[in-house]
Amino acid sequence: MAQEPITEIDPASPDVRQAQTYPHLNREMMERIAQYGAEEALPAGTMLFERGQRSIDFFVLVEGSIELFDYDRRQPHVFSTLEPRQFTGELHLFNDRQVLVSGRTGSDSRIIRIRRSDFRRLTTGEPDIGEIVMRAFVLRRMGLIRHGTGGAILIGPSHAADTLRLRRFLTRNGFPHRVLDTDADPAADGFLDCFSLSADELPVVVADCRNVLRNPNNAELADALGLSETLDPDHAWDVAIVGAGPAGLASAVYAASEGLDTIVIEGMAPGGQAGTSSKIENYLGFPTGISGQALAGRAQIQAQKFGAHLEISREAEALDCSGSPFRLRLDDGQVIKARSVVVATGARYRTLDVADYARFEGQGIHYAATAMEAQLCLGQEAIVVGGGNSAGQAAMFLSRHAAHVHILVRAGGLAATMSDYLVQRIAQSPRCTLHTYSEITGLDGEERLGSVTWTDVRNGTSETRPVCNVFVMIGAEPNTAWLDGCLELDDQRFVCTGRAADGTPLPSPYMTTKPGIFAVGDVRSGSIKRVAASVGEGSVVVAAIHKFLHPEG
Ligand SMILES: Cc1cc2nc3c(=O)[nH]c(=O)nc-3n(C[C@H](O)[C@H](O)[C@H](O)COP(=O)(O)OP(=O)(O)OC[C@H]3O[C@@H](n4cnc5c(N)ncnc54)[C@H](O)[C@@H]3O)c2cc1C
Repeated sequence: MAQEPITEIDPASPDVRQAQTYPHLNREMMERIAQYGAEEALPAGTMLFERGQRSIDFFVLVEGSIELFDYDRRQPHVFSTLEPRQFTGELHLFNDRQVLVSGRTGSDSRIIRIRRSDFRRLTTGEPDIGEIVMRAFVLRRMGLIRHGTGGAILIGPSHAADTLRLRRFLTRNGFPHRVLDTDADPAADGFLDCFSLSADELPVVVADCRNVLRNPNNAELADALGLSETLDPDHAWDVAIVGAGPAGLASAVYAASEGLDTIVIEGMAPGGQAGTSSKIENYLGFPTGISGQALAGRAQIQAQKFGAHLEISREAEALDCSGSPFRLRLDDGQVIKARSVVVATGARYRTLDVADYARFEGQGIHYAATAMEAQLCLGQEAIVVGGGNSAGQAAMFLSRHAAHVHILVRAGGLAATMSDYLVQRIAQSPRCTLHTYSEITGLDGEERLGSVTWTDVRNGTSETRPVCNVFVMIGAEPNTAWLDGCLELDDQRFVCTGRAADGTPLPSPYMTTKPGIFAVGDVRSGSIKRVAASVGEGSVVVAAIHKFLHPEG
């Protein structure tokens, strides 16, 4: 049968994005799709799914119309009407999270209902359709984020540490939201009155009309927004991957795509350290660079497409490796059983030893320089502490937004620690100044950071500048406290791999001293601390897991 074009729109037209977000399938595709579901005739106004529900089916419209809607001040607001040969759905079809918007038939309609398990068969069995659907889902989520549709409202002073924490959590988890800054946005007062909230309860997150959370912690927020899923305590997974940075996500994609029953436990948000990078320029295949968040978002969808299960905002607190299966205890008390474990918990940032440091963390002291932090520096001076590549990238990125960027290093220069291309860019930038042999000796401010003093360690001369934002990028420590007692760690507490406790070589460079437990990425002793290296290790470790689980095969 001759193939109909999927869309008749000129690819250069600005309407292409819309056509890809809500594509029309051709008639031949409709015939193939019909084999995966059952046709139903539904009268106008039938609810197909409602915001907050889980486990929603996939609907393809044969005749009639489907209205997708959100609630605006408790009134339904239709933001898109689907025509015949279009389909419903969003990223929730790849996980079991709550659906963000509602859908109903706009007129008497005929639909093909495809159950979730059959939806997975469809996307893998019909790759051309799977590609159109996947692209549409990603674009739909981007549209929801852009317009704040189906999302949460975060209300609070934009510079407060908890507002920043909550905003970071929502952004890094790709959850649509709007921020109402109570210091600057006149609309914020109306919202506070509407929900009978006072200023000392801020920040609050309005998850939906019924659900107002006062300064929730990340796990409470994840639960209220339906980001977390209920786990079966009796289930024993083939592999539990702890950490969803580049290494953990790569392990998840390869493990799930190769048929392993896979769960990923992540304390904060997919992407890890890379997720905080404004632009990764040295990752193969992205000549103009890619933001860490975009990379992580795609990897997460890829892992979920293959069936990996992601548990977000739950930290692994302890590992019982005394028997089989291993038992992971999470910080909410849940226990996860797994026949093998991949440790991919990476590292966390080092801090400075200066008075009042903790008071200003999140109130002017940052560990990442993304678009969000850059906005806080608009037209002001900023400081980057550190001489590594992440410090160099941050300085270059911030110099596009800040009035001036001071780079502070204790050493006499950058050549030994930073890639040459960054050293050159910093040297040539009129908006960056490198201060060698310098360290921060004073932090000052009322509620948030207002000024910073640094001192030349050679002669003790100090300089104080009105700086409200300091980016501390001086390396990291491994997240291995939860492993205590199970595995051999090196003197800096990174996980030793590749050799047994008695020194004999192990069959895989990623095997730890405990059979069945593997370590990949930045957390591994001797690893190259880069995105590509972490992705590579996460991918190849899966072969060793197969061998461990099926030694005979
Ligand atoms: C700002 C910045 C910019 C960078 N830019 C580049 C670059 O341009 N190019 C490059 O190659 N590299 C770059 N890097 C380095 C790169 O990001 C890291 O090498 C890489 O992210 C390491 O990946 P990973 O998965 O091993 O660990 P991580 O990225 O550290 O991820 C570990 C994950 O585990 C989670 N976790 C930790 N403990 C627990 C626990 N107990 N339970 C559950 N979850 C837990 C964390 O929340 C985190 O998400 C950059 C790093 C930073 C900080």
